[in-house]
Amino acid sequence: MSAYTQEQVKNLVDGKLDWDTTMRMLSMPKDKERFELFVHALQAKVAWKDKIVLPLGPHLYIAQSPATKQWNVKCDCGHEFCDYRDNWKLHANIYVRDTEEAMAEVYPKLMAPDVQWQVYREYYCPTCGIMHDIESPTPWYPVLHDFEPDIDVFYKEWLGLPLPERAA
Ligand code: ZN
Repeated sequence: MSAYTQEQVKNLVDGKLDWDTTMRMLSMPKDKERFELFVHALQAKVAWKDKIVLPLGPHLYIAQSPATKQWNVKCDCGHEFCDYRDNWKLHANIYVRDTEEAMAEVYPKLMAPDVQWQVYREYYCPTCGIMHDIESPTPWYPVLHDFEPDIDVFYKEWLGLPLPERAA
């Protein structure tokens, strides 16, 4: 029996909780029903039919193509970035805030980080323009690849659910 109702999970999906809280709640106790409710609510929000394998962010997913069974990184809007094993950030539109002027757009004066030491990299969907991620690395730091979840282990051992079919 899940501690969360479909209604509560829908609130999660509708953004009434921040993403970190959402993922923490999802990953705390073993709860495959909660995960299924969550994915079900996400699936109802997107216009496409690809099966959501794993949410990566509020508007970004690993999803299974119905035709090829390939797993791709996919935006809400339907834009496909790449194979799920690739770094989707390298396929995004990237905006780097590395000047005082650009930082001033998002930070109050004097609160902004020194751009000699820290820049912002913002990753946008090339099709719909939504921002999927932001990093604040030192200027010379390479594009980060997010931690890669072991999806097979997550499904089989954590959730106890069958792994969605996947093309090689
Ligand atoms: Zn998009």
